Amino acid sequence: KASLKNVTKKFDEVVAVNNVSLDIYEGEFLVLLGPSGSGKTTLLRLLAGLEQLTAGDIYIEETLVNDLPPRHRNIAMVFQSYALYPHMTVYENLAYPLKIRKRPEAEKRQRVAEVAERLEISELLKRKPKQLSGGQRQRVALGRAMIRQANLFLMDEPLSNLDAKLRVQMRAELRRLQKSLGTTTVYVTHDQAEAMTLADRVAIVNNGVIQQLASPADIYFHPINRFVAGFVGSPQ
Ligand code: ATP
Repeated sequence: KASLKNVTKKFDEVVAVNNVSLDIYEGEFLVLLGPSGSGKTTLLRLLAGLEQLTAGDIYIEETLVNDLPPRHRNIAMVFQSYALYPHMTVYENLAYPLKIRKRPEAEKRQRVAEVAERLEISELLKRKPKQLSGGQRQRVALGRAMIRQANLFLMDEPLSNLDAKLRVQMRAELRRLQKSLGTTTVYVTHDQAEAMTLADRVAIVNNGVIQQLASPADIYFHPINRFVAGFVGSPQ
């Protein structure tokens, strides 16, 4: 669970996020959908602590996190360029977040085994990233984010490097996985089909504000304005 209260972010004169208030519910899959430059990534980076707020407050699990650095926010992130460490095996990539926290060897082995099984990558643990397909790499990146059992999962266009077929397949997997884990997820995309299939709720972002926040069906059948209707391709 997290909330943003009157959050604003300016980059010099550019208002990237303009007085946004938003409650993110426990266990939901929330998608931020909007055109390029609308402020989606900035919203995610503010939640992650990768940008400083200009104004407003951010709470994660009831804690005011405005001044907390990313490593103290108990969040996991998967970004578009899911950089795996090329010189490490899949096992080492997955175990890395636990290694840097100096967790015991037995715990690492157990967590990696659990996560790998869940993502169906148990057979790949000895390989290096370059010996994997795009979809397999994506799964390893997801696994690495899952390994720590974070409060909040943040994803920024994590499927955009995949080909169309794999993207559709991974969407279904992501949704299934998120529901089985019950992790609160905020997912950024500019792809409306992706938003509609993945989301419990969709926030339509434009010009730094949330224009509408509702279920995919509500957004599609009851868009509140022309921008939303046009963007999600609602029937006339
Ligand atoms: P995209 O889908 O293209 O990634 P977005 O919706 O994620 O777009 P943001 O990246 O959040 O949009 O950008 C919102 C606005 O803030 C844009 O006008 C962008 O140019 C501006 N902006 C983002 N980051 C910076 C920065 N570090 N310095 C200056 N301006 C920035």
